[in-house]
Order: sequence, then C-alpha cells, then structure tokens
Amino acid sequence: MAVSTTDLTPIPFHRPHVAENQLAYVTEAMHSGWTSGYGPFNEKATRLLREVTGARHAVLSTSGTTALDLLALVFDPRPGDEVIVPSYTFVSSANAWVLRGAVPVFVDCRPDTLNLDEELVEAAITDRTRAILVVHYAGIACEMDKITEIAERHGLAVIEDNAHGLGGFYRDRPLGSFGAMAALSFHATKNVQCGEGGAVLLAESELAERAEIVREKGTNRKQFFRGQVDMYRWVDIGSAFVPSEILAAQLVAQLESFDKIQFRRHSVWRGYHEGLADWADDQGVSRPVVPEGCAHPAHLYYLMLPDMANRQALIAHLKERGVQAIFHYSPLHSSPAGMRYGRTAPGGCPVSESIADRMVRLPLYSDLDERDQERVIDAVTSYRVT
Ligand SMILES: *Cc1c(COP(=O)(O)O)cnc(C)c1O
Repeated sequence: MAVSTTDLTPIPFHRPHVAENQLAYVTEAMHSGWTSGYGPFNEKATRLLREVTGARHAVLSTSGTTALDLLALVFDPRPGDEVIVPSYTFVSSANAWVLRGAVPVFVDCRPDTLNLDEELVEAAITDRTRAILVVHYAGIACEMDKITEIAERHGLAVIEDNAHGLGGFYRDRPLGSFGAMAALSFHATKNVQCGEGGAVLLAESELAERAEIVREKGTNRKQFFRGQVDMYRWVDIGSAFVPSEILAAQLVAQLESFDKIQFRRHSVWRGYHEGLADWADDQGVSRPVVPEGCAHPAHLYYLMLPDMANRQALIAHLKERGVQAIFHYSPLHSSPAGMRYGRTAPGGCPVSESIADRMVRLPLYSDLDERDQERVIDAVTSYRVT
C-alpha cells in the first residue's frame, strides 16, 4: 500500500502494544472454563514476572493502584505514621497510605532526573516516619545507595513505586529489588500492559504470605487451593485484588514479548535523544538525564521547556502537525487532597512546581515506526522557543 508522505494521520501519544499471542491466550482462557483468578495464566504470568525482575516473590493485582493499596495493607502503618513520598508522582503513590490513615510527607525532586531528591530526605524524617517511598521516574533509578543508607540509619523501610521501571537497573540490580516491596503497573500506557493490571514484588516470604491473604479478601484460600488446609477462613483484613485469567493471559503474552517490546522502545527513545539534541541545545530545552550506573527501560521521553507558555505553545504547535503530546503530574503537595491528608517537608517543593509547568511528553510506544517518529522530530524541531 502506497502511503503519501503528506499523510497527516494523527500520531497518538500512546498506542498499547498487542503482543503476538495476546488474543490467542485470551481465547484459550475464555474457553478453558477457568476465567477467575489462580488459573494457569496467573501462575505463568507470576513466574515470568519473577524471571524478568529477579524478585523472590511476586503477586499479581488488578492495577498499579491496587498493587500500592495491597502493599500498604501488608505494610500496615498505624494511623498517623508518616511515609516520605515525592511530590512529583502519580496520586496512587500517596493515596495508598492515606487509605490506611498514614500521612504522606511530600519531598521535592531533583531537577535533573525528576526523582526524589535524596539530599532532602533526612530533613523530612520525624519519629513517626516508617518508610521512604521512591518512584523511579521514567524508569531512571533514584540514588538508591544514598536512600538505602539513610533508611538503614533511621530504621525505615524502603518501598518502590516501580510503575515506570520494569526492566530498569541501578548498578546492575533490577529496579523493584531494593525495597521490602515494590509495585508495578501494567496499565495500557506502561511498557508491559494488559489494559489494567499490576503486581507487588516482595523480598521476604512472611510479607509474601500476608500479601496472598490480603489480596484474597483476608482469607487463606490460596492455601486451600494448594491443599494445605481443609477449608479456607477469614484470617486477616483484605480485599479483592486477584486478576482474572483473561487479564493474566494477556500479561503472559506481553511478558513473553518483553525483549521485543523493549528493543523497539529503546530504539524510539534513542531516536528522540539523538534527533532532538542539537535543537534542544540551541533552544535552551533540556532532555532526560541518565546518571552513571542507571540503565533505564525507555518508559517515557520528555522535554523540559524554559517556561509554561512555551510548553503550551509547543503542545499546540505539535497538535497542528498531527502529533499528540501531553504533560503530567500536578504536584501532590499543593493538590487539594495532598494538603488535606499530607504534609510538606521543610523547604516546600519548588522544583516539582516548576517542572510540572514546563514538561512535554512525546509519543513513545513500541509500534511507533521510523517514519512517524521522523514526523514527530520534524514537528518538534520546527518549533522556536520564544
Ligand atoms: C501508572 C502509575 C501508577 C498507577 O498504576 P495504574 O495501573 O494506572 O493504577 C502508580 N504510580 C505511578 C508512578 C504510575 O506511573
């Protein structure tokens, strides 16, 4: 089929990848007579996930948000306990704690990686602090040596919201393996997706056993399935987090295609990084910074404009050229619920405020072909910062 070079079919910000066997596995699950949880696809997806992440334990959940909720239920903070959370993240990183009566304490991020600023963590610690939650923004690792050292010195847990970081590394160690627990998201916009899905990775067997109970309405049903108990009973608090086989089947197909997905995403990421370097230098725009020792999973690509007016103008400029670009994360510390339920660390979060106003995210998905990426790059580089 001949495609005109003037074709201006809009390029979406995102297009969920459909993995090779995704539909076949869904069909198989539907016809197998086993569509609820705990079936063969749940087992297989969990095994593949442990292989990809190197995690000792993994439990699937129905979203990244419910993975964080599950993790917070397992962690069990007392009301009034504090958890250090970056201001610049998705609401679910903080909501999970608020639902348990704990208080998120918002700390600012670094201007280069947009990650929790490790230099500001210590000033936010009080005698109520229980944990430090890190978000590896764009899958580029937080400064884990320093954060782990601070946590150990103060007797705090490290917890990872690793929604961006599946496949990323910090000094040869996979992201999601630094904390007591880590949450993953398989939302449609993430590298591995089943529409809505998530998982918790856990380092200790005791926590993993509790997670199995909490995600099954507080019952020991999993032990019943394994033949370890004669009947299952209500043994703890809990809710319903187990994904259906239909979702798990999609995850299996996605995880089997993980290397292919990642290969394509890295190629797109590099395409932007190289293709936009001169323009960015010339226009005073900054690009993602990947510190030494960090290997990222090409989750997202962003540009940081000098101010909000230029950010808005660039998005409009791209839209006119059929390219959908977006921005995200309204800082949590100054959001209505953040102010009601959380506390802001001394010094406030000026960097989070500033980057939230200036960021543009470009289309990045494994099926973005070279020709379309060329169109995005041409559209960006025809913009002049004013
Ligand atoms: C996507 C995301 C979540 C939530 O995941 P869902 O699967 O959409 O519920 C949580 N935290 C971060 C940092 C995310 O990017």
